[in-house]
Amino acid sequence: MITQHSIAHDTPYDAVIAGSGIAGLLAAHELLRRAPQTRILIADIGLPLEDRERQATSQMGGSGGAGLYLGGRLYLGSSSIPIPPPGTLPAGFRTILESSDYERRAHEVNALLDEYGARAPLRLAPDVAIHTAIADAEAAGLEYITSYPARFLTSEDRRGILRRLMRRLEERGVTFAFNARVTPDGHAGAGFQVRLEQAGGTWEQARAVTARALLLAPGRYGAEWLVETTRRLGAAVEQLPSAFGIRLEVPLTTYAPLTDINPDPRIQLTLSGDAIIKTYATCLGGYVLPVTRYGALVASGVPLPAGQRTGSTTFAVLAQPGVVGATDSWRGGERAARLLNERYPGRLVVQRLADVREGEPTSADALARNTVRPTCADATHGALHDVYPDAFWPACEDFLARLAQLAPGIQTGDALAYGPAEERFWYFPTDDQLQTGAPGLFVAGDGAGQSQGIIQAGVTGTLAGAGLAHYLTAPRIRS
Ligand SMILES: Cc1cc2nc3c(=O)[nH]c(=O)nc-3n(C[C@H](O)[C@H](O)[C@H](O)COP(=O)(O)OP(=O)(O)OC[C@H]3O[C@@H](n4cnc5c(N)ncnc54)[C@H](O)[C@@H]3O)c2cc1C
Repeated sequence: MITQHSIAHDTPYDAVIAGSGIAGLLAAHELLRRAPQTRILIADIGLPLEDRERQATSQMGGSGGAGLYLGGRLYLGSSSIPIPPPGTLPAGFRTILESSDYERRAHEVNALLDEYGARAPLRLAPDVAIHTAIADAEAAGLEYITSYPARFLTSEDRRGILRRLMRRLEERGVTFAFNARVTPDGHAGAGFQVRLEQAGGTWEQARAVTARALLLAPGRYGAEWLVETTRRLGAAVEQLPSAFGIRLEVPLTTYAPLTDINPDPRIQLTLSGDAIIKTYATCLGGYVLPVTRYGALVASGVPLPAGQRTGSTTFAVLAQPGVVGATDSWRGGERAARLLNERYPGRLVVQRLADVREGEPTSADALARNTVRPTCADATHGALHDVYPDAFWPACEDFLARLAQLAPGIQTGDALAYGPAEERFWYFPTDDQLQTGAPGLFVAGDGAGQSQGIIQAGVTGTLAGAGLAHYLTAPRIRS
C-alpha cells in the first residue's frame, strides 16, 4: 500500500528520497532545516512502522531501514566516508570526510538522536570478555574487529526515536509512501520522472511524480537496484573486487567460546598478495539459506533466537582482495559463484571439510553419516573445492587453524562448507555532498558503500541533505 493516498499523478516534488533508513530520514531532516519549504517524498519498498511492529519476523527494510529498526549499536569513534575497501584502492577513490571533520558530524548525528529520545550511556571500551577475545585473537595473529566508544539503544528507544522523527518530518510536510517500488524513469526537464508502484502487490495503478532532485539511499540490500538505477541515470559506478568463499557450518557448541561474548564476531587475517580473509555474518544457532543476490544463487544465513536454535552456527569465510590482488594472486575468485551455479543449477552445494582437503566430492552416504547435520535441506552434496583461486584453500586452512585457537575444534573434517558465498561492493564517485556525476542525483548510506553503520549512514544523510538544499536553492544559469 502507498499510505499517503494524497499522492496524485504528476505531483511535483522538490526531492524524492528512496529509502527510509537512517540515511534517508536524516537527509530529509537536514534538507528541511536548511530549506523549510522543500516538498519532499520519502518512498520505501518496505512496510510502514505500525505494520513492521505487527510482524512476527523482522524484515530488513521499511520504516527505519535495517540498523535503526533492528540494531541499535551506535559507534561513535573515528571513521571516514566513503568506507575504503581493504587492500589497494581503485584509481580515483576519494575520501570526502575523515578525522575530526567526520567526528564532529558523527557527534551531531548522535546529538540529534538524543533530541529524539536516545538515552543509552556511552561505553568507552569493550567489556572484559571482549578485551580478552581481542588479546587472544592477537596472540593467534588475528584481528578481532570491535568499534568503541559506542552506545546501545534498547528496542524501545529505537522505536521511540523513529516514531518521533517521522512525526516531526510529517509535521514539516514530508509525504511518506511505503510498500512502494521506486523507479526513476529518467530525466524530465531539469529533474527526474519517478514511477511509484506497489511492491510485489496489486496496486491498481502506478503513479508518476516529478522530482527536481533525487536521493537514492536503499541500504545494503538495495545495492543492486542502486547500481542499476544510478548507471541508468548517467552517473558512474565502479565495481570493486568481490569477496568470495564459503559458508561454514559447525556445531553451535564449538563456536560458543566466540558467540557467547559476541553473537556476530568479526575476525580477520591480512594475507599476502593484497587480500584479507574474514568471518562474515555469523548466524548463531541458525541455518543456511539459499538466496539470489547479484544474479547468483549464494549461501546466506539466518540466525535464530534462543529457544528456537538449531545445533549449528554458520558463518561465511570470505577472501577479499584489493584491486591489485584481484588481478594477481586472487584472480578468478569472482568467477567462483558462477561456476558453482553452472555445476549445480538452482542448488547450493555442500562438501565436508575433510573431503575438501582430500579433493573428493562429498557423497550422499558420507553426508548422511556426518556428525554436523546440514541445516539447508535444499543443498546438494558434491564438490566446491576446485572453483577457487589456488591461494584460497591454504589461506582458509591457515585462518581456520588460527580461529581454532579461539574456538577449539572449529576446523573439524565434519564441518560443512556451503558454496557459493560472495559479497559484492561498488564505489560511487560523488562530490563532497554526495552528488553523483548526474546533476541532481545524490546517493547516501550503506548501499552506496558510503557507510557501514547507523551513525555513519546518518552522517551521509546529513551530508546529502545539505547537498540537496544547496542544489535546490542555488540560482541556476538558464541557457
Ligand atoms: C540485522 C541488522 C542489524 C544491524 N545492526 C546494526 C547496529 O546495531 N549498529 C550499526 O551501526 N549498524 C547496524 N547494522 C548496519 C545498519 O543497518 C546500516 O549501517 C544502516 O541501517 C544503514 O542505513 P541506510 O539508511 O543506508 O540503509 P537501511 O537502514 O538498510 O535502509 C534502507 C531502506 O531503503 C529501503 N529500500 C531498499 N530498496 C529500495 C528501493 N528500491 N526503493 C525504495 N526503498 C528501498 C529499504 O526497505 C530500507 O528501509 C545492522 C544491519 C542489519 C542487517
